[in-house]
Amino acid sequence: MPKIVLENITKRWGKFYGVDDLNLVIEDNAFVTLLGPSGCGKTTTLRQIAGLETPTSGRITIGDRVVFDSEKGINIPANKRKVGFLFQNYALWPNMTVYQNISFGLTNVKEEMDKIDFDARVNARLAEVLSNPSAVKKVIADSVDKNGKVDEKRALINLIDSFTLSMMSAKRLLAMNLDNAEALRGECEAAVQKAKKEAEAKGFKLDDSFRFTKDGKVVREERRLSKEEIDLAVRRVSRLVKIGPFMDRYPAELSGGQQQRVAIARTLAPEPSVLFMDEPLSNLDAKLRLEMRYELQRLHVETGSTFVYVTHDQMEAMTLATQICLINNGLLQQYDAPLTVYDKPNNLFVADFVGNPSINFAEAEGKQNGEGIEITLFGKKAIFKPVEKLNLESWFKKRDEDKAKAEALEEAKRQKKGYVEKSNKDEIFKYHIAKINENEIEKEYTPVNGDFVLGIRPDLINIDENGKLDGEIYGSMPTGMESTIKVRVNDLLLTGVIFGNLSLKIGSKVKLSIDSDRIMLFDRVSGKLISTGSVEFV
Ligand code: ATP
Repeated sequence: MPKIVLENITKRWGKFYGVDDLNLVIEDNAFVTLLGPSGCGKTTTLRQIAGLETPTSGRITIGDRVVFDSEKGINIPANKRKVGFLFQNYALWPNMTVYQNISFGLTNVKEEMDKIDFDARVNARLAEVLSNPSAVKKVIADSVDKNGKVDEKRALINLIDSFTLSMMSAKRLLAMNLDNAEALRGECEAAVQKAKKEAEAKGFKLDDSFRFTKDGKVVREERRLSKEEIDLAVRRVSRLVKIGPFMDRYPAELSGGQQQRVAIARTLAPEPSVLFMDEPLSNLDAKLRLEMRYELQRLHVETGSTFVYVTHDQMEAMTLATQICLINNGLLQQYDAPLTVYDKPNNLFVADFVGNPSINFAEAEGKQNGEGIEITLFGKKAIFKPVEKLNLESWFKKRDEDKAKAEALEEAKRQKKGYVEKSNKDEIFKYHIAKINENEIEKEYTPVNGDFVLGIRPDLINIDENGKLDGEIYGSMPTGMESTIKVRVNDLLLTGVIFGNLSLKIGSKVKLSIDSDRIMLFDRVSGKLISTGSVEFV
């Protein structure tokens, strides 16, 4: 159902802009990660969508419902936005069992829901299960302990999981004499027929899901969830996160990962159509984190919910998301699929923030010559060949026009009543070039058209005897599957990731190549990506 739309969302405290004019569309069933450095505004963005923080201005729509509009004075509270939360400090209630922790929220729900005949529904389900008594007998037989006796607790869990039953129904089933299954099934069916007749006598009908209907419409009533509904919900989410056997334990009797699963189950139980998570895995150790990432990915598919996930860990963002929303200083930098963010970053900040090990930057200058751009890179003449046709002059012209437009817009905002100047000014990202001698003092320089920065991902650097670049191994870290190397080229240090297990001596001379059309050409004036392409040394 919900597509979440943020329009011109701004949150400021005094002159400090936590979120600055954010426009974002989160598609239904997306897994969006909000990523960025500490303090960039990720949590504030999430809290505003969830209704835990009031934006200074803008509009938020969830599904077809406007939940916040500063101009119209709409602000629907968090508990009415039908969303679930999962935070870093998920704090389970220590004096409640796992079951109680998960069901607690559900017992408090009181709202308009479908009117249902639960007894009839249970009887119908049991009649269905009893039509194949050998399957039930097999599940019970599989639940024997080492002395050959049926382990009642295990049998109940297995019945619940195998036939999607509540605990109450599973107990009824286990107490039955299954040699009499046909007669028992008859009793259940008779009860169903009786319930249908009773409903009809009152002017209703029961539909296939045992909802009361009148004149073809499902009857609604303000009510609490039934015990049966709560139990089925708890069992369903426990199955999803695999904590079925721990229902009677207290949080202190669980490992960190198991506790985290309970917290996730608790959030999922009311079936939120949107799930907000703020660094939910950051309290777990590295191995468990990785495991839980897989679980979250699976959960996203199985629940069909929309996930919005805050993290400052770019690996987590890359691996989990269908879309990454990268923010810096309250401003959206890029909103794209993970691989697009990695291969075609909008600007130097994005290129630098995403990727581990970090991207290599190298300055170059040059000019267009036909289809290519003649540059001097690593002290050598080279041609940058863009993947798509590029006219540098037009690119610079468009850049200047866009800038003028943005400035005009800013000026118009300034003229508006109540405008507050942003104290945390936006600056062009200062990229870092790794050098042998890092202590050199940088000269002040104002870049001009034709000054570029090239971005080369470490996986594009190869040790290659036919390579045109001369390098010297500065450091090498083999991890078994791959080696991260640092190579000196002139006075620069490049990082490379080489697959396979290489033993490279520090100080040894190597030839390098960068054969790829995924090299990035950035404009030094604006910090923006001009094009991706390949570099040929001449
Ligand atoms: P982190 O990764 O460190 O959690 P974040 O990206 O989630 O960071 P936010 O918590 O959204 O950052 O905060 C954004 C900025 O707004 C921060 O610089 C923070 O100091 C500031 N901020 C947050 N809440 C308030 C407040 N109540 N008053 C003033 N400034 C605030």
